[in-house]
Amino acid sequence: MIIDGHNDLALTLWEGKEPIHVDLAAAEEAGFAGGFFAMNVPSPGSLAFDAVPYALPLSSEIPFEEAARITDELYEVLVGLPVRIVTSVDDFRPGSVGAVVHIEGAEAIAPDLSNLESWYERGLRSLGPVWSRPNAFGRGVPFAFPASPDTGPGLTAAGVELVRACNRLGILVDLSHLNAAGFWDVASVSAAPLVATHSNAHALSPSTRNLTDRQLAAIRDTGGVVGVNFAVTFLRADGLHLPDETPIEEIVRHVDHLVELMGVDHVALGSDFDGCTPPQALDDATKVPALLDALAARGWGDDDLRALCHRNWLRVLAVTWR
Ligand code: ZN
Repeated sequence: MIIDGHNDLALTLWEGKEPIHVDLAAAEEAGFAGGFFAMNVPSPGSLAFDAVPYALPLSSEIPFEEAARITDELYEVLVGLPVRIVTSVDDFRPGSVGAVVHIEGAEAIAPDLSNLESWYERGLRSLGPVWSRPNAFGRGVPFAFPASPDTGPGLTAAGVELVRACNRLGILVDLSHLNAAGFWDVASVSAAPLVATHSNAHALSPSTRNLTDRQLAAIRDTGGVVGVNFAVTFLRADGLHLPDETPIEEIVRHVDHLVELMGVDHVALGSDFDGCTPPQALDDATKVPALLDALAARGWGDDDLRALCHRNWLRVLAVTWR
């Protein structure tokens, strides 16, 4: 049973595009039991990762009314999928796809948090305060390579209140897309295990989207989890956008580093399917077993593979959701 930390299937369908990585029926056959389904209001324009080094400016702010309208539409797409909306870890079952409703960038949440509870009632159980742009709650991390994730100020006062409210309601707070200051702000405020749903090791691929060893240690110390991102630009040491020349071993390299630093109980999958360019050998949710085979060939036993594939996500969600 594979539980995954991030996909952008709802956004892909909302944009009228054909999904390229997730065919739910085929994925389910291959052991995909769902995971975090992101609702992300897209910033205009596309991200150019083609030449390294790069330092893309932060995307501009999105007004609340626009974000709220689009997120409502993304939610309708999500609940219209053949998935079960998951609000308890018992809702995940092998042989079916469970969806954690996740807001990636909280522009659709009113700065006074007045609509957060109604989102909770609609099934929201995970939220990233920012995507890679500024909003009422903080500043996201801009995409740059090679560069430190320490790119500016962290959470606003509203952002601190958002983290507290999420703790109170039992909504997971996602650290992916926060800059370093925002990360440490969440770490000092949150009472829940720290989680980055789709990020990699900065020591191996110095992207601003990746986590330093100090950040990884902080996640470990709270009993949290990092979901390994399959984006080639966040995997490769040179940051290049070369899906045809990036073997599965690049993911294994990050898994090894994370396990060495945090232990196997803190590493999970966070593919970013339909939101990133993965290695060609892993460009479809049905191909995840190839990664597990590569780990098994390196001596991973069934128990460790189960921790990576679903047990760590289930543990953190159970603690966070109560
Ligand atoms: Zn993302």
